[in-house]
Amino acid sequence: MLEQGTISIHTENIFPIIKKSLYSDHEIFLRELVSNAVDAIEKVKMVSRAGEYNSEIGEPEIAITVDKEQKTLAIADNGIGMTAEEVKKYINQVAFSSAEEFVKKYEGKSDRAIIGHFGLGFYSSFMVAQQVEIDTLSYKEGSSAVRWTCDGSPEFRLEDSSRTQRGTTITLTLQEEELEYLEPARIRQLIKTYCDFLPVPIKLEGEVINRQKAPWRESPSSLTKEDYLEFYRYLYPFQDEPLLWVHLNTDYPFILNGILYFPKLVPDVDVTKGQIKLFCNQVFVSEHCEEIIPKFLLPMRGVIDSTDIPLNVSRSALQTDRTVRKIADYIARKVGDRLKELYRDNRQEYISSWQDIGTFVKFGALNDEKFKKQIEDIIIYRTTYEAKTETPAVEVQSQEGDAWQDVSAAPSLPYTTIKEYLERNKERHENRVFYCTNEATQATYIELHKQQGLEVLFMDSFIDTHFISFLEQEYANVKFSRVDSELDESLLEKDKAGEIVDPKTNKTRSELIKELFEQAINKPKVNIRTEALKSDNPQGSPPAIVLLPEFLRRMRDMSA
Ligand code: ADP
Ligand code: MG
Repeated sequence: MLEQGTISIHTENIFPIIKKSLYSDHEIFLRELVSNAVDAIEKVKMVSRAGEYNSEIGEPEIAITVDKEQKTLAIADNGIGMTAEEVKKYINQVAFSSAEEFVKKYEGKSDRAIIGHFGLGFYSSFMVAQQVEIDTLSYKEGSSAVRWTCDGSPEFRLEDSSRTQRGTTITLTLQEEELEYLEPARIRQLIKTYCDFLPVPIKLEGEVINRQKAPWRESPSSLTKEDYLEFYRYLYPFQDEPLLWVHLNTDYPFILNGILYFPKLVPDVDVTKGQIKLFCNQVFVSEHCEEIIPKFLLPMRGVIDSTDIPLNVSRSALQTDRTVRKIADYIARKVGDRLKELYRDNRQEYISSWQDIGTFVKFGALNDEKFKKQIEDIIIYRTTYEAKTETPAVEVQSQEGDAWQDVSAAPSLPYTTIKEYLERNKERHENRVFYCTNEATQATYIELHKQQGLEVLFMDSFIDTHFISFLEQEYANVKFSRVDSELDESLLEKDKAGEIVDPKTNKTRSELIKELFEQAINKPKVNIRTEALKSDNPQGSPPAIVLLPEFLRRMRDMSA
């Protein structure tokens, strides 16, 4: 037997579930009611632009009032209002939203999206209210005001209202255990959290409490450097200025707006926890969006706003969502573009920021193949190379102190890419890179190389340990040697002046010591250089240094 039909729902049974379990968090009822008010105001603007409403719209406004005696909280707007028919249609029918219909009808009459979508938000008010009243007057000519009341049972009352102002007032009589929402401080905190950037003034006790301006929704060309910095200070007060920022702004193949900042890295901050705030149509959704941001960009700060990120799904579902993956790729690409642009147009600033952004960039190169391809040519290293007049390496101001400060008096440090390094040194040592990992403990070795005219790169950030292995794979034909590893005799500039020669064997002192060492530790290829360290060595280094073959050096380091 085959039977088809429609599943019926008993409102009496489903209503308590909607009321109690629609959202995990009771406080979001306010976000929902304010979003509806913002939508109502946007809608009245749209019908006015469409020429269907010719009276004054007036200054848009949402007013929140609390009455501690009556235990009521009211949210009033001067938006589009509702007719009795609309109340029956959109309020009495749970999960029925007017948004889609409305947007279709008034397409192109607004540059911002209507927030409403599912037709469930209004019912979240029953999570905190024992009774909800809607008092509303539609913009439509000849419509009369109506009052709808419901005490949380599936029964409602609809009656005439004496209201004369266009718009809607939602009045909640709070449940006994939800009286915290009568506290203006609590309401202010909720508005600040969820509704701060909604484009309508929200008044509490006669005062506007939301910022309204959402810079990420503006066009990048209309914003100045100071606008971006001001917004950063607003989001993260009392923090160092950000190093640089990326303004995300796309409509296709998904809608995404946002501003992401590279902060100055602060030690002891948990960078695995995202600090980017997620919004949907300027309504705050979540403090973290680890699932949407590529891992290596988690230390970034700022906001992203997208209607294409599915909400109310599990974190793991979010991580595998195709649009979310595309958004993550897009963000990485935009960040890469911005870095390349800065490298090209403002090398000085790029280098000043490198100590902080370098870590992100290297981590990104290690973790994201596409990002690596994009930025591999702009990964730079501090070098011992001192630029002469021809083919100078990049000159930069000292990294010490605040990069934004004027440090023009400080000594300059040159930076280079691996490619530039290899090119510059190819005659002396082809496919060979010398690097150091600790400027202080390897000072003697760095000095040895400098005296020999060999350029040394500084790979001394914590990520470089991993990064060197990565570079060895990337440049398979290049040998990377740490300064305290063996050094080919053939690379050294021979200068025997000052060398003490043993008259019996005609060997130099260093040759003799070397032989002794080789016998003693029975290991080939140990280089001893005494001549490399002149007596005027400012580091006051020991008279001899031991160089182990690179693989032995690594083994020693591993067992240490
Ligand atoms: P959604 O906002 O997703 O459409 P809601 O449950 O929040 O769903 O609201 C249902 C409908 O009720 C809205 O689509 C809108 O038509 C109407 N509505 C709710 N609040 C207001 C208001 N303040 N002014 C005018 N209409 C409103
Ligand atoms: Mg809504």
